[in-house]
Amino acid sequence: MATTVDLDRIWQSVLGDIEISLSHGNFVTWFKNTSLLSLTDDSMTIGVPNIFSKSQLEKKYATLLHEVFERNNLPTSGITYKIHTPTTSPTVEKPVPEQPESVEAPRQSSLITAAPKSPLTHTYRRGINHDYTFESFVVGSGNELAYAACQAIAADPGTKYNPLFLYGGVGIGKTHLIQAVGNAVLAHKPNARVVYVTSEQFVQEFVDALRFKKNTDFAGFYRNADVLIIDDIQFIAGKEKIQEEFFHTFNALRQADKQIVLSSDKPPKDISALEDRLRSRFLWGMTIDMQNPDFETRCAILQMKAESRSFNLPSDVTEFLSTNVQTNIRELEGALNQLLAICEMRAVEPTLALAQSVIGGARTRPKHLSAKQIVEVCAKHFQISVTDILSPKRDKDIVRPRHLAMYLMRSELHLSFPKIAQELGRKDHTTAMHSVEKLEHAIQNDTEVREAYHAVREQLYA
Ligand code: ADP
Ligand code: MG
Repeated sequence: MATTVDLDRIWQSVLGDIEISLSHGNFVTWFKNTSLLSLTDDSMTIGVPNIFSKSQLEKKYATLLHEVFERNNLPTSGITYKIHTPTTSPTVEKPVPEQPESVEAPRQSSLITAAPKSPLTHTYRRGINHDYTFESFVVGSGNELAYAACQAIAADPGTKYNPLFLYGGVGIGKTHLIQAVGNAVLAHKPNARVVYVTSEQFVQEFVDALRFKKNTDFAGFYRNADVLIIDDIQFIAGKEKIQEEFFHTFNALRQADKQIVLSSDKPPKDISALEDRLRSRFLWGMTIDMQNPDFETRCAILQMKAESRSFNLPSDVTEFLSTNVQTNIRELEGALNQLLAICEMRAVEPTLALAQSVIGGARTRPKHLSAKQIVEVCAKHFQISVTDILSPKRDKDIVRPRHLAMYLMRSELHLSFPKIAQELGRKDHTTAMHSVEKLEHAIQNDTEVREAYHAVREQLYA
C-alpha cells in the first residue's frame, strides 16, 4: 500500500500530465484541489473538493483521465471519486468556483496581476516565471539589441516598438527576455494586465472557447490586455481560424496602444503558412534576431547561474564549459546543472576534472545505453545473475544491485517510475520510487555504495 507521500507524488505527476492537456483556467478550476486518497493494483480513490468537480471529472474529463492514468500505469477502472477537504491545505487562498457548467476560461488564470510570489497550485504552474528578469539576464553580443529593445518597451509599453518580434534558435533566451518584459512591467505597475501565453496555449484556449461557446470571453480577455506576450508564435501558422482571431486581437491592441511582444524560431518571412496580413503586421514594429552569445557572455552566464546556487565556479571550469558547450544557453545550463548536482551529491567543489568527466560523459554517452544494459552491468559488477536482479528475491546482496539498477535507470535514462518497475518485471511503481530514494541516500552516506555506483557508471560509459 502506498504511503501518503507516495500518493502525493504520484498525483503530482498525474497533474503535471493533465495540465499540459488543458487550458490553465480549466486546470485550476477542476484539478487544483484534487488529490489521490488511495491506490491499489486495481482501484483508486480520488479526492475532489465538491460535487461539481466530481461530476466534471466523471463526465467531461473521463477520456482524458483514462489516457493519463494509462500513461502513468495507474488503474483505469475501479475509480471512485470522494468529496474530500484536505486537512492541511496550502492552496486554499482561492476556493474553486462552484458552478458546474461554467468552464472558467483563461480569465484570471493567465492574467497576471499582482504577480504574487506564492505558486498558484503546484510547481507545474504555467505562465510568468518570476526568475526570468532583466537582472538575471546576462547581456552580451548576440542578445544586446534584443535586451535593449525589451527594456525600452518595458519602461514604456505600447509606445515604441509595437509589436516587438524576437526570433532565433532554441535555448538562446527568447522566453527569458520576453518574460522579463512582463516581470518588469508588473514591478512598476502591479495592476497592469500582463498576459503571457505560448501560442500552443493560445490555440488550445481558443479551441476550448469555441467548443464551449465562450468566444466572446476569449476575445475580450486578450483584447483587454495591456501587454500581450505570445511565445513561439510560429505555431499559429497553418491554423486559419486562430490566425483570423489573432489578427483582430492584434489590431485591437495596436489601436489602443497596448504592447504586443512576440517570439519565434524564425523571422516572419520564413514562417510558412502564415497569412500575409499577419506577416506584414509582424514587421510593423521591430524585428530582432537573437544569436547564441559569444564566449565571454557564456562565461558570465555560467558564473551568474553558479553564484545563484551558492557555488563558486573556478575560471578554468567556466572556460572549459563555455568552450565545449556551444550549442545554446539551455544546454550550457544543463551541463552546469549536471556538474553542480554531482558536486552536491558528493559534497565537493566543482573542478576542471569533474567538469571534464561530466562533459566527457555527456559526449561519449553511448546512444544505445538501455535499461537492459544497466541491469547486466549491475549484475556483473556484483557477480550475481540478471535473473537474480529480476527475481522477487529479497536477499541483501541481490536487493542492493537491484536498487542500483533502478537508480541508474532514473539518473542516466530519466525513465519514469512505472517504466522502471516494468523493466524489472514489477507491477508496483511505488517500490521503484522507494528503491531509488534509498539508493540516493546510500550514495550520500555509504562509501561502499558510492564506490559501487561510480564503478558501475564508469563501466556503462566505458
Ligand atoms: P528560448 O526561449 O530562446 O528557447 P530560453 O529563454 O528558454 O530560450 O532560455 C534557455 C535557458 O537559458 C533559460 O534557463 C534562460 O534563463 C537561460 N538564458 C538564456 N540566455 C541567457 C542570458 N543571456 N542570461 C542568463 N540566462 C540566459
Ligand atoms: Mg522559448
